[in-house]
Amino acid sequence: MFKVCDLTENVEQSDEPPSSTVSCRADAEEGSAAPEYGHLRKNGCWNDWKWQMSNRIRNLSQLLAFFPTLKNEIELPNVIKKYPLAITPYYASLIRRLDRTDPIFAQSVPQIRELENLDCLSEDPLEENEDMPVPGLVHRYPDRALLIITTTCSTYCRHCTRKRVAGTRETSISPRRLAQVSAYLNAHPEISDVIVSGGDPLTMPTDALEKVLSTLRSIPSVEIIRIGTRTPVVLPQRITDELTDMLRKYHPLWINTHFNHPNELTPESAQACARLANAGIPLGNQSVLLRGVNDNPAVFEQLCRGLVRMRVRPYYLFQCDLVKGVEHFRTPLSRGIEIMEYLRGRLSGLAIPTFVVDAPHGGGKIPVLPNYIVSVSPTHTVLRNFEGMLVNYPEPGTNNAAIPQPGKHSLSSVWDLATGRSSAIVPGNTKRYQRRKNIVKNEGPAAVQEKF
Ligand code: SF4
Repeated sequence: MFKVCDLTENVEQSDEPPSSTVSCRADAEEGSAAPEYGHLRKNGCWNDWKWQMSNRIRNLSQLLAFFPTLKNEIELPNVIKKYPLAITPYYASLIRRLDRTDPIFAQSVPQIRELENLDCLSEDPLEENEDMPVPGLVHRYPDRALLIITTTCSTYCRHCTRKRVAGTRETSISPRRLAQVSAYLNAHPEISDVIVSGGDPLTMPTDALEKVLSTLRSIPSVEIIRIGTRTPVVLPQRITDELTDMLRKYHPLWINTHFNHPNELTPESAQACARLANAGIPLGNQSVLLRGVNDNPAVFEQLCRGLVRMRVRPYYLFQCDLVKGVEHFRTPLSRGIEIMEYLRGRLSGLAIPTFVVDAPHGGGKIPVLPNYIVSVSPTHTVLRNFEGMLVNYPEPGTNNAAIPQPGKHSLSSVWDLATGRSSAIVPGNTKRYQRRKNIVKNEGPAAVQEKF
């Protein structure tokens, strides 16, 4: 087995405490109001990503200064010791309620339940460490590889699937390790798509990130480079012209980001996404289904609509992995299916992500859908749409005209559809059918037939 932490040779350690701390409104009423950042946002440093990084909430006293209501949660030091804490001032400023019903609070503020343990949970449920021929390089699918280039994030998400790695030490890939990765990729030309991940790659200095990208781009068989990052969500100030000027040199380059809740869609994050999109980088979004955060169909619809407005295509909705420390975020699988059922027909396909379970034991991503296939026969497949309409799809060469048609006692059943005796069963009370009936009523069937 390869150890992820081995990738951190010869690198600078940067886990110093912040050089200064942001202050908050000390008299914030418990459970009601968020810290006051108005004066900080006027500060010239607010838009400086390095200032945001060096002023992250990193320890318990800084956390309690922001969130005094946590003072009675005596196990928090143990949580932070096991799973590091970091929240950018920007992301903290999005908190609207000082309790766990707030989606930003829930995703960023440690909680005691992270120490819960169940038999089905593990540090590395996707068994990434087992699929690492070179430390940090996960080769699972035939044509793709995932490269972990840093263990640093600007904000440590409490639901992180790589809790075993993220923030345990804030380090980045060493030149020697990068050379090993390059050698492996050169020896495996079947890998054409490399996903650069972490940690969060965009927390690295631009020149250090460029070294990784230029190395990958120099490998003839690597066609596509993708970056997985939460930076547009938690540190949008990082998306500078300097960064995008560098990134645009390495096309075809794609970025997948990680928005989970509409409250994360801010003018700052929209601007960050616009900068990336204007640099010609296609943007996708990978959300995680999180109990109490986004496991609500209407909230998720709002997120998807907002993402598309920001030129970000909802790509995946992940069922929460079986990771130690995130049990309290897990939802039943049925909740995700319910959300997909709600979205289909309501939103353009462009705005609907694929709901997937990243299978334990390294099984990879398995799409999970509501069931749209109702019945199958050798001649017809019976499908249902989002409204509940049942329709048959004839197999090639099927001649419906040759099939005996229903007699007067026909039930217009699913069997009739599957055998080609009828072609659809239509619910009578949908808005669309009411509209259709009105059109036919007003214009007459002949006029409708003649359109176009
Ligand atoms: S940014 Fe990504 S890697 Fe970092 S803590 Fe969040 S989910 Fe984990």
